[in-house]
Amino acid sequence: MKDSVERHFNQPLGGNEMPRFGGPATMMRLPTQKSAEGLDACFLGIPMDIGASNRAGTRFGPRQIRAESCMIRPFNMGTGAQPFQRMQVADIGDVAINTFNLKATCDIIADFLDGVLDHDAVPLILGGDHTLTYPVLRSVARKHGPVALVHVDAHADISESMFGEKIAHGTPFRRAYDDNLIIPEKTFQIGLRGSGYSPDDFNWSRSKGFEVVQAEECWHRSLTPLMERVRRKIGSSPTYISYDIDSLDPAFAPGTGTVEIGGLTTIQALEIIRGCRGLNIIGGDLVEVSPPYDTSGNTALIGANLLYEMLCILPKSCE
Ligand code: MN
Ligand code: MN
Repeated sequence: MKDSVERHFNQPLGGNEMPRFGGPATMMRLPTQKSAEGLDACFLGIPMDIGASNRAGTRFGPRQIRAESCMIRPFNMGTGAQPFQRMQVADIGDVAINTFNLKATCDIIADFLDGVLDHDAVPLILGGDHTLTYPVLRSVARKHGPVALVHVDAHADISESMFGEKIAHGTPFRRAYDDNLIIPEKTFQIGLRGSGYSPDDFNWSRSKGFEVVQAEECWHRSLTPLMERVRRKIGSSPTYISYDIDSLDPAFAPGTGTVEIGGLTTIQALEIIRGCRGLNIIGGDLVEVSPPYDTSGNTALIGANLLYEMLCILPKSCE
């Protein structure tokens, strides 16, 4: 703690300085700043739902995730991580998307991320529908080249098009493959399930070299052994985490647009993210929290905690 004061790392506003239900509604009650200058990592919101195919509402996701993050304390009692002793972190606000134009919004997102990455800050993104991962990966690949990907989701999001549109929340990983933004043999899709348009829905991923781990393979099991394999296969490649909250069972996370039963537990979610420790994580997102369907706030609360867990496993946090 003393060390951090000397090095002037930002600290989340404590619960004994201001009641947790008061004070700034930033991610973890961190200070805000306009750009990522001087930061090791930053939280940012992308308040969009114009890529959603069924229920909307994820435009309110970043705000609600920030609100529910007020209870998260700085030290990780499960893993011992102390991210705010090792990194300069702030909330840099939201991307000013164009809610009337999805394609323009993608360009706005990519430009914004270019700015973050030019400052060498690791972006942790509060979504927003899953469309956003495509422009984020465009920016990420511009800096790092094609990246390894840990994609946790009920859905593969590899459709060629939706209603004839190439850009939507069901297409980001198809576009990422097409544009050579990801390393196919270092791409993992975990938690896929539900009903399909054909029995072969997930085989496009497999045919390109992605490893698909369907939810049924995760049932009743620890995912720690899976993550050992993931780490071994990815090695030192720059790695992006894209976490769709609908990967979780709706018993845990009902506040989302495209619900599928038989999903992951919050414990398995922690095993996946904590299992990414040791990888060269260069960014991550938590998408598809839809507050209008989240009557308890728990979906946003889980999302906030999973973003915190991503912060805890960043390489600089683990030095
Ligand atoms: Mn998704
Ligand atoms: Mn999904």
